Amino acid sequence: MSSRNHQNHYEAMIDVEEALSKILSVFKPLPALETSILEANGMVLAENIMSEINIPPLDNSAMDGYAIKYENVENASAKNPKTLRVIATTAAGDLPYSALSNNESVRIMTGAPIPGGANAVVPFEETSDNFNDASSTSKSEVQIHNSSFVGQNIRQAGQDVKNGETVLKSGTVLHPSHIALIASVGKATVKVYRKPQVAIVATGNEITEPGHKLEHGRIYDSNSYGIASAVIEAGGNPLITGIARDDFKSIEKQLNQCKGADLVITSAGVSKGDFDIVKNVLSKNGTMEFHSVRMKPGKPLAFGVLRQSDNLIPLVGLPGNPVSALVAFEQFCRPAIRLMLGHEFVPRVTIKAILDDKIDNPDGRRVYARALVYKKHDVYHASLSGIQSSNILSAMGRANGLAICPENRAHIKSGQEVTVIMLYWPSEVF
Ligand code: AMP
Ligand code: MG
Repeated sequence: MSSRNHQNHYEAMIDVEEALSKILSVFKPLPALETSILEANGMVLAENIMSEINIPPLDNSAMDGYAIKYENVENASAKNPKTLRVIATTAAGDLPYSALSNNESVRIMTGAPIPGGANAVVPFEETSDNFNDASSTSKSEVQIHNSSFVGQNIRQAGQDVKNGETVLKSGTVLHPSHIALIASVGKATVKVYRKPQVAIVATGNEITEPGHKLEHGRIYDSNSYGIASAVIEAGGNPLITGIARDDFKSIEKQLNQCKGADLVITSAGVSKGDFDIVKNVLSKNGTMEFHSVRMKPGKPLAFGVLRQSDNLIPLVGLPGNPVSALVAFEQFCRPAIRLMLGHEFVPRVTIKAILDDKIDNPDGRRVYARALVYKKHDVYHASLSGIQSSNILSAMGRANGLAICPENRAHIKSGQEVTVIMLYWPSEVF
């Protein structure tokens, strides 16, 4: 490739979809890791879960009452009760009482195994047993006030889960009910796709770590902390390596700290200014795929693969402006992290809303306007959450969504329908 072609290749601005598919093409789900079930909530299962037991393990009682033979209480009523002998009491955790003969009953508690020979449980309320009265525990007879039927109030062995049954399939996103199900079949650990390690490098001579004194003319590093929090929210593990100065060696030094990461995210230094050298460092230490995307904010965005000894690590060079960095993270880094975590569906949920303001799109990029979505008379509305410049972090802070004006539309007018990517679901939306 001639140097001129090389230059053109570098300058090409690509569409959001092309950028996303180029980025996602280098990722795949990370290897599965045996994980404590307490750590597995929200993660993606990397194995089928099979039960080696019946749940419940034995036929057991759904009520506190009397285990009986239903045929012994046919036509029983309050006026015409049927008297049965009480031969034992049984509670959850007991072994099943061996055998019940005709006109016998066992006083039984919820969860206790059904005695051999019994085929129904009559609740206390339908008997002479006043369960609040301590003396009822020692009575040798009970009157049954109702007829019954086979299986009444009996929970059958294996009714919930059968021995040998697959209870969860690989690919399931685990929620608390799934964790409970896994625990119920006796497993303390499961295989889930490992969490990606995401190294975060801020660049810029003006950048100061929060918590330190701010020298004249400098600004605090908001990007690293916003990005790290977004990494956690997406399910990854962030590692803030530190701040690189705008010089080649300093950036290389910080990138050297990223060994072992599954993804490196830098911020700033990818634009066209004299000190925007992240792209040069990436080109020298790996390959750069593209550095300009048809979107607003977020146009200067570098993507490539960093070579470090034997490792190839994908690197996304986010823009420096804090809103651009977070919006571009949403479009490209979050899906990559979700993909590594094994999620089948990686984008955010979008909704349709009525736009209260106007979004302008003067240069044919995809605009992601910071918007506050709320619901009025059961219809979603989106109003812009403040000044739409890419440095206005406070407007991003007021937004719960990103309203999209597509590349091929010069504007979306007030009152027209707009698609919004939902970032949060606060109470205004319900
Ligand atoms: P650059 O892409 O380096 O030209 O940066 C664009 C803008 O983003 C400049 O105004 C920078 O000061 C600002 N910026 C760069 N890095 C950060 C950061 N880590 N936190 C907050 N703002 C930043
Ligand atoms: Mg800079």
